[in-house]
Amino acid sequence: MGQRRCRVAGCGESVCGNNTLCAHHKYLHEIGVEIGVTFRRYRTYMKNTPAYRTWLQMKARCSRESHEAYRRYGARGITFDPRWSDFMAFYKDMGQRPFGYHLHRIDPGGPYCRSNCIWMEPKAHRSVHTMLRRMANV
Ligand SMILES: [Zn+2]
Ligand SMILES: [Zn+2]
Repeated sequence: MGQRRCRVAGCGESVCGNNTLCAHHKYLHEIGVEIGVTFRRYRTYMKNTPAYRTWLQMKARCSRESHEAYRRYGARGITFDPRWSDFMAFYKDMGQRPFGYHLHRIDPGGPYCRSNCIWMEPKAHRSVHTMLRRMANV
């Protein structure tokens, strides 16, 4: 019983159920990107998606000393899963960012990785961080 693969040439991701496209190509299809262009072109399209912008910021906070938030992240030892230096690996783990959502680390001292991250609705995210700040101040 062979695993079925995404029908976009060069992708190779497995698909489940009745899908003929993997999750990220399905997303692109939904936002109106034509199916049939090369895998490289898809990577380029992905750069215009919300998850990509979050990923860029996440990496910069942890690794670029000139980033405004570096002192609260990279300088404090917050790292990211080395696999996540590739956007596609990040995307495969986390999926697309729902509109307005934030990337949240469940353990605030832990790294950015699949098991420690969730997309969080902004209001809930704010209250979690207010609570964390209060706990840190006692
Ligand atoms: Zn695919
Ligand atoms: Zn958070």
